[in-house]
Amino acid sequence: MSSSTDPPTIESVDRFRLRARAWIEDNGHLAPPDYGANVPAELNERGRAWQRAMHDAGFAAIHWPIGYGGQGLSLDHHRAWTQECQAAGLSPILNMVGLVLAAEALLSYGTEAQKRELLPRTARGEILWCQLFSEPSSGSDLASLSTTATLDGDTWVFNGQKVWTSTGTEADWAILMARSEPDVDRHAGISFFVLDVRSPGVDIRPLRQMNGDAGFAQTHLDDARAPATALLGQRGQGWAIAMDVLGRERSFGSNGARALERQLEQAMADLPDGLDPVWRARAAERWVEGQAYLALCARGDAAHPSARKLALSRFRFDLAELAADATGADAMLWNDRAHELSSAPGSWFGGGTTEVQRNIIGERVLGLAREPRPEPAPPTEGPRG
Ligand SMILES: Cc1cc2nc3c(=O)[nH]c(=O)nc-3n(C[C@H](O)[C@H](O)[C@H](O)COP(=O)(O)OP(=O)(O)OC[C@H]3O[C@@H](n4cnc5c(N)ncnc54)[C@H](O)[C@@H]3O)c2cc1C
Repeated sequence: MSSSTDPPTIESVDRFRLRARAWIEDNGHLAPPDYGANVPAELNERGRAWQRAMHDAGFAAIHWPIGYGGQGLSLDHHRAWTQECQAAGLSPILNMVGLVLAAEALLSYGTEAQKRELLPRTARGEILWCQLFSEPSSGSDLASLSTTATLDGDTWVFNGQKVWTSTGTEADWAILMARSEPDVDRHAGISFFVLDVRSPGVDIRPLRQMNGDAGFAQTHLDDARAPATALLGQRGQGWAIAMDVLGRERSFGSNGARALERQLEQAMADLPDGLDPVWRARAAERWVEGQAYLALCARGDAAHPSARKLALSRFRFDLAELAADATGADAMLWNDRAHELSSAPGSWFGGGTTEVQRNIIGERVLGLAREPRPEPAPPTEGPRG
């Protein structure tokens, strides 16, 4: 018999997984089509409703503390949920920038008031987040960013331009990196903020990409104002927080193995009958490569996130190329395969470029000599890593 002083019993991961699977079977039809990491503009409303449904059923923010809108379970429960969604071809969260990056930054560095104000609404899908890091002249070399943050009494004033803001046009809040200490070393001068993008002075404009979508925005901050409570962590701590956040972004991006496995199976199933030996050899090569990449991803944290990201982004393109080639001349016009082929290169850049991931693997995993830096690097520095 349990007494009132016993700690609450936590559901085992296996039981949780079965419960999650059953709920998905009953409710998966409510979800929009699988959109990957961040809900696109055209699925915004459906994505938010899906996030709300997951929340109300106890499948959102699974490993966050209960007081902040979470379920108080473990990371293993959270992984089980993600795997069940991926197996069913559903997106497990509204968007990675909010539910992973902003949320983990808030959980680790936020004040009690920031957590209570922002996390429960994020878990319910009421706040969609975007990431205001990259600038026209600061992508890989993020530490060179020049957007300024100046404290005017108890108000922060931001000026500068950000670019490649995924889901920017639909977002409500942003995580923002800006230079608050102009006179110190470029890393130590950066602070991290949470900004309501409906604030005066924030202007978000869509950018159209080569695949025809407008999933990105450019964001202008012209005397944009936010209360002093917009600062996350300490002044000058922004670089350390960002490194933490970007590590999670790479890790999340490299979790897309199940989706890619489905794509691989689909690509093979769609190949026309009676392929000549050259085609068959090419398809077999992709299949074998795919199995190797999936095995790498199955190692989870035992494989460096940069290695997993590198593998998956390269494989996504190779597979898209195979699928497009298989449709022949049609892919030169426009179809789903052509769309995927022109979208796939984006994953070579988002969350840190291929070359930068190679540098990270070379320097931090293989222990090779560091590439020349323009200045002494702080302990956690890498270009956007
Ligand atoms: C799908 C997608 C989503 C994105 N979402 C967001 C977002 O929401 N918010 C946000 O802030 N940004 C976002 N970005 C921007 C992304 O983070 C940047 O594109 C990326 O960091 C590269 O920066 P850059 O485009 O300025 O290229 P650059 O840094 O100018 O790089 C240009 C080329 O030089 C190479 N290069 C640069 N430095 C080195 C080096 N040290 N060694 C070797 N080669 C190097 C790069 O690999 C690349 O090939 C997104 C990008 C994409 C494609």
